[in-house]
Amino acid sequence: MVKITSEKDGQLSRFSSATEEDIRAGKASDVYFERSLDAASRVKHDAHVAAEFTVSGPLDTWVNFTGLNEVLTLLRGKKIDLYAIPEGMIVNSRDSRGNPVPFLRIEGSYDDFGEFETSILGFICQSSGISTHSAKIRDVLEETPYFSFGIRRMHPAISPMIDRAAYIGGADGVSGILGGELIGQKPVGTMPHALALIFGDDKSWEMTVKKAGKEGIKTVLIDTFMDEKFAAIKAASMFPDLDYIRLDTPSSRRGNFPNLVREVRWELDLRGYTHVKIMVSGGLKIENLPELKAAGAESFGIGTSISAAKPYDFAMDIVELNGIPLTKRGKYSGSKNVLRCSRCRKHLTVPVSREVKKCECGGEYVSLLKKFISNGEILEPYENPTTLRERTLEELNFMKRTLGKAGDSPG
Ligand SMILES: [Zn+2]
Repeated sequence: MVKITSEKDGQLSRFSSATEEDIRAGKASDVYFERSLDAASRVKHDAHVAAEFTVSGPLDTWVNFTGLNEVLTLLRGKKIDLYAIPEGMIVNSRDSRGNPVPFLRIEGSYDDFGEFETSILGFICQSSGISTHSAKIRDVLEETPYFSFGIRRMHPAISPMIDRAAYIGGADGVSGILGGELIGQKPVGTMPHALALIFGDDKSWEMTVKKAGKEGIKTVLIDTFMDEKFAAIKAASMFPDLDYIRLDTPSSRRGNFPNLVREVRWELDLRGYTHVKIMVSGGLKIENLPELKAAGAESFGIGTSISAAKPYDFAMDIVELNGIPLTKRGKYSGSKNVLRCSRCRKHLTVPVSREVKKCECGGEYVSLLKKFISNGEILEPYENPTTLRERTLEELNFMKRTLGKAGDSPG
């Protein structure tokens, strides 16, 4: 047997994650920030800068922006001003002329926030990747419920962030306990295969239905031992008020998953169990959803494709030094604002001082960047995740009204 000597070597005494204190102390940053700031502190300087965050890629899509909550948590109390697009907004990464859209701008002494660039980017890149993928699933499924089941595929330290982003993006619920706490909703779960393995199908179903109670949604998992069709009929006959049977069929047994759903639906309907709905889960990707929905799936548990969504490549760049426009090659200097037409959804990046009221279509331009921090003070009470989720749903509808269908198009 291997003897664990964690006390001696320290390798097993902590998880491989940064603590909140580490992040606040700038220890989760790339080391070159620390070195440059050390060097800068030895030379007298007064670098009041404006820094903007824009997307470098992918550019062929829209962004359901999230992660700002943690940026504000990190930067409140520091002598900076912060402007950002509110969470839950769906914004193109380039304006109608192809110019980059700033999602966030920080103004202040570089010494006060420069060392947090890595962490700020990490907050918004990953969260926005997850919420955008979730919003694309919402767009495809329309009113059909889906749930975030993917925290098990990611490091547990970030599970609440994953569930929050998935929920704001449009998921109806999340499976994680901490995620549920963070979004203020009861976490959602059906039953694990382990329960069926330990107690057998009948007993585990009884326990699950009993635990859901009179008001709770009753869902039983039917793919542990039996063929889905016969298990579905059996479960429906055992529990008159069953809401869902869940198919988490392993890939080796799947063949054609939509056909399996169609067959189960047919057999349930034929016997009068039209009220029993079919939930599907297990390795589902966005491209699988339309066919499964058409086949009769009425609820979806979606895991890795949400939790491992590709992060956006946001980058931070200084665009002004002591009030003078200045930036590196390949970037646009000067502080900017983002305007969006409230009628045709055209995006326009403009110098911050320029006012443009009317779009060519006759609609009004609305400024998307909002001030969140003034000299370290948070300006307004922060919106809760349910309000932010409603914003995402409104934004998806706005996109559909102007583009016909949201899809992938950046408009
Ligand atoms: Zn317009």
